[in-house]
Amino acid sequence: METQLQLNKITEWGFTDIKKPIIISGPCSAETEGQVMQTAYELHNAGFNIFRAGIWKPRTRPNTFEGVGAVGLDWLKQVKKETGMLISTEVANVKHVYESLKAGIDILWIGARTTANPFAIQEIAEALKGLNIPIFIKNPVNPDIDLWIGAIERFYNAGVKNIGAIHRGFSNFEKSIYRNTPQWQIPIDFKTRLPNIPLLCDPSHIGGNRDLLADISQKAIDLNFDGLMIESHINPNKAWSDANQQITPNELKVLVDKLIFREEKPKGISLNAIEDLRYKIDLCDDELIQILEKRMKLVNAIGLYKKENKMTILQPGRWEQVLDKSIEKGLKGNLNKEFISQIFKAIHQESINLQTEILNE
Ligand code: PEP
Ligand code: MN
Repeated sequence: METQLQLNKITEWGFTDIKKPIIISGPCSAETEGQVMQTAYELHNAGFNIFRAGIWKPRTRPNTFEGVGAVGLDWLKQVKKETGMLISTEVANVKHVYESLKAGIDILWIGARTTANPFAIQEIAEALKGLNIPIFIKNPVNPDIDLWIGAIERFYNAGVKNIGAIHRGFSNFEKSIYRNTPQWQIPIDFKTRLPNIPLLCDPSHIGGNRDLLADISQKAIDLNFDGLMIESHINPNKAWSDANQQITPNELKVLVDKLIFREEKPKGISLNAIEDLRYKIDLCDDELIQILEKRMKLVNAIGLYKKENKMTILQPGRWEQVLDKSIEKGLKGNLNKEFISQIFKAIHQESINLQTEILNE
């Protein structure tokens, strides 16, 4: 595990009614004063108390809406004044930080594209030196957990103690149902390495489509995330950015009301049954490791044989047979085809790595 960062708990951030699950919501972008105010009022009436809106928008392609700029900060100020909600926005450079601080923004966040740039992060971190404004750091667009943790360490080293993180999925080249694939293993590893940091999930940018929001949100809650950042808009289809993924404040309320919250260790129930099952799972895991060891020894022998007989490592016909046969057997045992195929691809890759080493020895 990492050296643990001594971060403040969310309850120590100086806000009175912040509680789990933390829900941050509001439009992808502030568009007009009316849109901002109406969205905020509807969210507030539905019981939400942290408002978000992008003022400066990092867009993938030019000639798309890049945010209203500093004028939008006045609208956020008005949200705070009229509804009492906390207000938050994304900052990508030092100028954004100063303007946000001047406007009394309560919570900042760093977008995925900025997290990927250590120079920008270092400058923003230094601009926040000595201040205790909370900042959430989204994962970088690429699936690099160290880059994400590195950004958090840059803020920490600058003395910032009110730090949270947001999982918003990772860019993918291959077609997928997600706009940014969640790769849940990464936030799980992240939580194992930094258990003290509040972690939110952003189902809007993971899904890219409002139909996926409920499932992604439930999954995050099941993985013990501390809350969600979800985009909402009074008229989602007409949004100037990210129209497909936004929902109305009322739809957000329905979504949150339907979430099922489970506890890690519910009080008052016996854990014997689950402990027994966990014991058995541990035994299975031991067996899996032993079988992998045994298989790799065989791969080693095959590597030596191929070297001696000047054979190629990759034998596509044989690999196809192995994969097909395993998927067929897996299906009989009710195992998901994709799951078996991923496991066998990983095993095959490791086998190729070992044989390459042997051939080059
Ligand atoms: C956003 O929250 O509107 C945003 C731009 O998100 P991300 O940095 O995750 O793409
Ligand atoms: Mn957005």
